[in-house]
Amino acid sequence: MNTVRHENGVEYLRSDKISSKHGFSTRKGGVSTLPHTSSLNLAFGRGDDKETVLENLRLFADAVGFDAEKTVSVRQVHSADVRYIDASFAGYGYFKEDTFSCDGYVTDVSGIVLGVKTADCVPIIMEGCGSDGGVRAVGAAHAGWRGTVSGIAASCFNMVKDMAGSPERVRIAIGPSICGKCFSVKEDFVDAVGKLLDKEVFDKFIIPDEQKAGVWHADLAEMNRYFLCLAGALPENIDVSGECGCCNPDRYFSHRYGRGERGTMLSVIEMPRVSPR
Ligand SMILES: [Zn+2]
Repeated sequence: MNTVRHENGVEYLRSDKISSKHGFSTRKGGVSTLPHTSSLNLAFGRGDDKETVLENLRLFADAVGFDAEKTVSVRQVHSADVRYIDASFAGYGYFKEDTFSCDGYVTDVSGIVLGVKTADCVPIIMEGCGSDGGVRAVGAAHAGWRGTVSGIAASCFNMVKDMAGSPERVRIAIGPSICGKCFSVKEDFVDAVGKLLDKEVFDKFIIPDEQKAGVWHADLAEMNRYFLCLAGALPENIDVSGECGCCNPDRYFSHRYGRGERGTMLSVIEMPRVSPR
C-alpha cells in the first residue's frame, strides 16, 4: 500500500513493501515556476534551467533522505536494457554527463541511488533480500509500453533475484502511471504490441473501447505486475500504486494530459548504506 509523505513541502509516495530508502515524487514541493513544470520537475530539457532542476533534486533528496549526488538516472530510450551500476556512476545524469542511455538499473553498492524518470510511463523499484533479511541489491526500471512489452521489469527482477539468491525475497513497488482508462491507444499501437505479446496476454490487458471503434485501452501497470509474476515474483510482494497522473494532473505530471507540455517525476531507491564498524 502506498502512503503519501510530506516533508518540507515536498510530497512523495512510498510503499510499505520496500525497506530501503525510496520515494515516488509528485509535482509538489519544488521551485519550478513554469506552468507546466511547476513545481517539482526533476528532468532537464523540459523548460527549466539546470540549477532549478538540481535544486528540485536536492529538495526531493532531503525529503526522502538520500544523497542527491549519488543519484544515477541517465537518458531513457524505451529499451529493455538493465545495467549494473557501480560506484563510478554516482551522479550520472544529473551532476555528471551521462555517457550511455539506459532504462533499468541494479546495484549492490552502498549509498548509490537509482532513479527513473516518468510522466505516464511506469516506474518500478525493487529490493532483494538475503536469507538474513538484509538488502542485497536494489533495482529500478522505467517501463513505457515498449519497455513493458519487451520485458524490462522481468530483466530487472532477474538481476535483483540472482543477487538476492531467491525470487521469493524480492519486493517490488510499481508507482503512479497512466491508468488503462486514460491510456487509449490506436491501431498502430495494437499492431506493434500484437506482434510482441501472446494472444492470451494481449486480450487480458488491451481492451477495446466500449464506444469508439478502432480505440483500445492498455493497462501498463497491471501488465508489468503480470510479467513480474510470470518471472517468479510473489504476488504478495508486489505493490501497485494505482494512482494515475492523467486522472490527477494537480498532483502528478502527465505527458498525455499536458499533450507533451509537462515536467517529469523521479522514482528512487537507495542501496542501504553500510554503517562503518
Ligand atoms: Zn487515469
